[in-house]
Amino acid sequence: MRLLDRYEEIVGHQEVERLRRLAQRLAGKRIVHVNSTRSGGGVAEILGWMIPLMEELGISARWEVITGPPEFYRVTKAFHNGLQGLPVSLRKSDFDLHYQVNRENAQRLNLASDIVIVHDPQPIYLPLFTPPGQVRRWIWRCHIDASRPDRSVWKYLEAAISRYDAAVFSMPAFARPLACPMFLIFPSIDPLSDKNCAIPETERLDVLARLGIDPIRPLLLQVSRFDRFKDPLGVIEAYRLLHPYYPEMQLALAGGPADDDPEGAEVLREVLDRAGDDANLKVLLLPPDSHRTINALQRSATVVLQKSLKEGFGLTVTEALWKGKPVIGGACGGITLQVHDYHTGFLVHSAAGAAYRIRYLMRYADKRQRMGHTGHAFIREHFLLTRNLRDYLTMLLRLDHPDATVI
Ligand code: UDP
Repeated sequence: MRLLDRYEEIVGHQEVERLRRLAQRLAGKRIVHVNSTRSGGGVAEILGWMIPLMEELGISARWEVITGPPEFYRVTKAFHNGLQGLPVSLRKSDFDLHYQVNRENAQRLNLASDIVIVHDPQPIYLPLFTPPGQVRRWIWRCHIDASRPDRSVWKYLEAAISRYDAAVFSMPAFARPLACPMFLIFPSIDPLSDKNCAIPETERLDVLARLGIDPIRPLLLQVSRFDRFKDPLGVIEAYRLLHPYYPEMQLALAGGPADDDPEGAEVLREVLDRAGDDANLKVLLLPPDSHRTINALQRSATVVLQKSLKEGFGLTVTEALWKGKPVIGGACGGITLQVHDYHTGFLVHSAAGAAYRIRYLMRYADKRQRMGHTGHAFIREHFLLTRNLRDYLTMLLRLDHPDATVI
C-alpha cells in the first residue's frame, strides 16, 4: 500500500486530496533539504517521512547532510545553546571554522534545485558560497526557540539569514523579527510510527508486566528527559499530595539514562532520592529506541502529565493526546497550544494545582474519556504530519505567488 493511502485511513480522503492538489501545482519542482545528521533528533525524524511523502506527491525531494570535523559540531552545539539564550563564549576561530566548513560543503553537496530548505544553524551559510544560478530560493527552517539569543551568535547568524527568501519558525514565541517573509509551521507527530501506532493489547500488557506496573490500578505518567525544566520533582510532589485520597495510585516517570548529560544525571539522582523505596513509584530509565515501550505506557496511563516549567513544543503532550489521554501540563511553551482547560486537559502552575486537577479527573471517568476523545480529534486536525506537509507545500506556493489572495 502506498504511504499516502495509509495516512488517508487516518486523516481522511479530503486531507490527502488537498495535499495532492497543492502538490500538483508544485509538480516537477526540485527541493533539497539540508541538515546536519541522518539519524537522531527531531529534524532527522521529520525528514525521514517528509522526503518519501514529497516524492510520492510528484515533487523531486532530496536530502543532503552537511559534514565537518568534530570541532565543527562543538561550535554548532554552542550556536544551538546560544540561539536558545544561553551565554556562550566562542572565539573568532570558532566562527571562522563554521564559515569554512560551510564553504567546503557548498562545493561538495549537490544543491542544484529550485528550493533549498536549510534546517537549523549548522548549514546556514551555504547560500553565501553556492554559485549563483544553482538554487532559485533559499528557506531557513529554525526548529528551536530563537527569541532571545546570545548576541554574538545572533550577529553571526543574522548576516547569513539576509541571503534567504524566507524563514520558518515552530511557534510565534520562538521567532525573531527578520527582513524576509516569515512563516509559522507547527511540529507534528507521525501516527504510524512505533511511538504512535496502535499496538496489540498483549504487547501493552507485556510491557507493563516487564516494568512492574499493575495494569488494573490507576497510573500517572510523565515521559521526559531528566531535566529541571520538566519538573519531575513537582510531579512526585503532586503524586504525594494525592496519596491520602488514592493510595492505590501508581506513578511512572520515564526518561533516558542521561549518562552523557551531567545535569541530567544530577536531576535523576534527586528524583531517585525523592522517590525513595515507594513500590508504586517507578523511575524508568529507557534506552533511546524504546518507542513501543513509551507507546504502551502512554496508552496505559489514566492521566498523562507534562508538568514543565519551560518547554519547546512538547511532543510528549501531542503523543499522549493522540492516544486519547487527558493531559495535565505546565502552562508554558507549546503545551499551551495543545492543552485547553476542560477540553483536552488542564494547564497548571504548581504541584498543588496539578494534584487538584488529577483529583478532578480521577473522580470523573466520563470527563476523562470525553477529554481524551477531544484531544485525539484535536491532534488529528492540527498536529499530524499531513498538516505539517500541507503547511510546507502552501508556503512553497505562497513564495511563488506572493500577491495571490487565494493559494
Ligand atoms: N522521549 C523518548 N525517550 C525518553 C524521553 C523522551 O523517546 O526517555 C521522546 C518523547 O516520546 C518525545 C520526545 O522524546 O517524542 C521529547 O520531545 P518533547 O518535545 O516532549 O521534549 P524535548 O525533549 O524535545 O524537550
